[in-house]
Amino acid sequence: MLKFTDEQIVFQEVPGEVSLAFTIAGCPLGCKGCHSSYSWRADQGSALTPHYLQQRLDSYKGLINCVLFLGGEWQPDALIVLLELSRSANLNTCLYTGLDDVSPALKQRLTYLKTGRWRPERGGLDSPHTNQTFTDLRTGQCLNYLFLAQ
Ligand code: SF4
Repeated sequence: MLKFTDEQIVFQEVPGEVSLAFTIAGCPLGCKGCHSSYSWRADQGSALTPHYLQQRLDSYKGLINCVLFLGGEWQPDALIVLLELSRSANLNTCLYTGLDDVSPALKQRLTYLKTGRWRPERGGLDSPHTNQTFTDLRTGQCLNYLFLAQ
């Protein structure tokens, strides 16, 4: 079962979408300089059960367009259930992962995917030198340009 340490509504992490975002506890990658190292321990936080997510989707009905999971790919079966619930509510879905790719089973349930570890010397999506990629999986288009300051 996945657990989360933070739940918030975000506007910039997924361009053009109002997203309900969950920071999933237990990221195993240990990137140096991680901005959310407090969330590394998997046994902390609250349970992100399908029942809990459905309650939140009902509460935010008409107010959000997307559900964003900041991690969770290390428990793909649990994440797939949550993605399918989100899609059933006619919402887009996004995963932020530090991996370079995730399984086809996850990708077919995702609208957007952010890949790549945090490398402080390269910067995040708002850096022109980033190693990270934000992709619209419906088209395969890289949307990194939307994160760069105009
Ligand atoms: S992938 Fe993200 S959450 Fe995980 S250690 Fe790296 S920066 Fe932190």
